[in-house]
Amino acid sequence: MPSAFLHPFARPAAEEFITIVRGEGALVFDAAGKDYVDGMGSLWYANVGHGRGEIADAVAQQIRTLEAYHCFDPFTNLPSEALAARLRDLAPMDDARVFLTGSGSESVDTAIKLARIAHAQAGHPERQLIVSRSRGYHGVTYGGLSAQGLPLNQQGFGPLLPGFVNLPADDSEGFASFLAEHGREVAAVITEPVQGAGGVWPPPPGFHTELRRLCDRHGCWLIMDEVICGFGRLGHWFGTEHYDVRPDLITFAKGVTSGYVPLGGVIVDRKVHEALATDPAFLLRHGFTYSGHPTAATAALANLDIIEREGLLARAVTMGARLEAGLRALAADGLVAGVRGEVAVWALALNEGVDANAVRNALLARGVICRAIPPSTLTFCPPLVTTDAQIDRIVDALNAVLA
Ligand code: PLP
Repeated sequence: MPSAFLHPFARPAAEEFITIVRGEGALVFDAAGKDYVDGMGSLWYANVGHGRGEIADAVAQQIRTLEAYHCFDPFTNLPSEALAARLRDLAPMDDARVFLTGSGSESVDTAIKLARIAHAQAGHPERQLIVSRSRGYHGVTYGGLSAQGLPLNQQGFGPLLPGFVNLPADDSEGFASFLAEHGREVAAVITEPVQGAGGVWPPPPGFHTELRRLCDRHGCWLIMDEVICGFGRLGHWFGTEHYDVRPDLITFAKGVTSGYVPLGGVIVDRKVHEALATDPAFLLRHGFTYSGHPTAATAALANLDIIEREGLLARAVTMGARLEAGLRALAADGLVAGVRGEVAVWALALNEGVDANAVRNALLARGVICRAIPPSTLTFCPPLVTTDAQIDRIVDALNAVLA
């Protein structure tokens, strides 16, 4: 009997999947007991690695105490308050406030809505446009989908939302001239610190600094979509710190819990919050059933404890350097056309005619997981606890397959 599961980002006609049953550190195991180095941290999120009993214990304890209770007015709960306070203290912003969601896509849609309504509350309802970069990935709900710069993901889903403008990713002059002409209609510019799902594209030098300058000049918010880069991937709590840029809004998900329980959110700077709070009678009519889910917040707190206690921000730098060196050696040997990345997130550009899916499958046979972005990109985003030997196993498998 065919599986009843309609898989995400998969061919609906597909019937063959690898059943993952268990994980430990940077390894996962399939139903036949075969182990794989998880070179993608599942889907860019397993920062503390798999099988952490202390997160399981914290979550179980929270479920026994209070599994869930909503946070719409007039309620709150202790884990969500503690998580918001912790993120406020970590964020590279002044006196931040934290909105909680259940995923990256919900976070992006929330940030778009907050950006627009904050301007409206500050007396500028004409600021509606959301400006994004080509190759950007901002999730799959209609807001984030409309902001994406990956046209293949948008095809066939009917009309996208109005009010979105996508500009060439690396062309800061293009942003400057668009904002010079339309800056007064713009609510926000959204960018990832390093573009991830679009194939791992670090920004050109100075690009984010220039975006910050342009946003200041034209009065629009800068949204950093940290869904992949947050919580250690670039060696900092937030990827934007790697570029020394202070955004007005940050979207996060994935690494905040390392995926143990789904959770995301938006951090807003004091300026944005002040705009939202201009009218004390204003009611923010936005929120998800699970905005402030106490069990998810508990998982996040336990996950952040591990990142801090085990020094995983620093570990991202050393682990990433070893991976980078291995990948660059492949390029030096002519086995790949190029290497892109930053700190602990990397991609290979395959040689012409080499099929990314075929390489991915050959790596799987050797017990190494990467992500193929057809036609010619392979991406790597290993847990921050991946050992040197496991990084070497990824590189050795690549060597064998590509040679
Ligand atoms: N934004 C970025 C930068 C992402 O990488 C992703 C997912 O990969 C999302 C948003 C969407 O997150 P989710 O898949 O949790 O909805």
